[in-house]
Amino acid sequence: MKRRVLIIPCSGIGKAYGSVGREAAYQVVEELRPDVTETVCLSLLTMGDADAHAQVRESPTITIDGCPTACAKVNVEAAGGKPAAEFRVFDVYRAHRELKVRSVSDLGENGLAMAHILAEEIAAKVDELKDEG
Ligand code: SF4
Repeated sequence: MKRRVLIIPCSGIGKAYGSVGREAAYQVVEELRPDVTETVCLSLLTMGDADAHAQVRESPTITIDGCPTACAKVNVEAAGGKPAAEFRVFDVYRAHRELKVRSVSDLGENGLAMAHILAEEIAAKVDELKDEG
């Protein structure tokens, strides 16, 4: 049986790029690669939930962070996991500066486009990881 790849976005409340990261995660898990991915609530990791910790230690994990604080990456590592790939929303913006996010609660057409670009990049990484190990 193939392993599912964990997609863990930061919570990003109040930050537009955090919202973009979460949207990208939903697109991967619900639309692009639903059969081979799942997600874990970041708060469970930070609270020390044993099942969530076991998941990040045993599954290939992709983190998505909305700013350099890198809460998703830091908390996966604190839980004993090692992200197989780390995505930063700002890197997408750097490559597509024409895409300006409208607001935290309403990404707008450009924000959704940014999320989709990121989601496609993550899905490609999922394809590499799901058959490894
Ligand atoms: S990485 Fe940045 S945007 Fe994401 S939860 Fe942490 S502080 Fe917020």
